Amino acid sequence: SRAFYIGRFQPFHLGHLKVISQIAEDVDELVIGIGSAQLSHTPENPFTAGERIMMISRSLEDLDLYYYVIPINDIYRNAIWVSHVESMTPPFSQVYSNNPLVSRLFSEAGYELKHSPMYNRVAYSGTEIRRRMLSGEDWQQLVPQAVVRVVEEVGGIERLKQVSMKGD
Ligand code: ATP
Ligand code: MG
Repeated sequence: SRAFYIGRFQPFHLGHLKVISQIAEDVDELVIGIGSAQLSHTPENPFTAGERIMMISRSLEDLDLYYYVIPINDIYRNAIWVSHVESMTPPFSQVYSNNPLVSRLFSEAGYELKHSPMYNRVAYSGTEIRRRMLSGEDWQQLVPQAVVRVVEEVGGIERLKQVSMKGD
């Protein structure tokens, strides 16, 4: 079977990795959607789609799972969003999501919805990790080692700090 899982992955963290490791036990293939793919260089969305692809594919190297990583741009039209996703992805029959809107749109379109539990949500959270990146607190322990390396490689902390500055 082939399933779908979508996130913004700003950045990809250990909560995402744990979810995907669990999904890997249930499915043959996974289509991973990168949401808001067009966004980067903002406080809420510091990393490009390409950088997020690097984070994900390097973090999943040791996992026994065949997967596709597909960038999905925002279209701001919920009523046709599932068709938009379908136009960009390999076909799939199950959707793993905790997001109420994503779940609603896919179930209205006839997909089988699977719920995945939240792991250590206080810390394994993109919002919390970006906050720690800005404040100089330890964020590295909340992401896979591969993500630490990608963030270093692209100067991610400096970028996040600069685009978060109150400017001119
Ligand atoms: P942000 O705070 O930037 O929204 P996030 O941690 O919620 O980041 P997303 O990319 O928005 O990360 O999440 C993608 C999907 O992963 C969502 O469906 C979300 O519910 C799920 N998810 C996020 N964190 C966890 C976690 N700790 N455990 C399980 N699932 C998670
Ligand atoms: Mg989120």
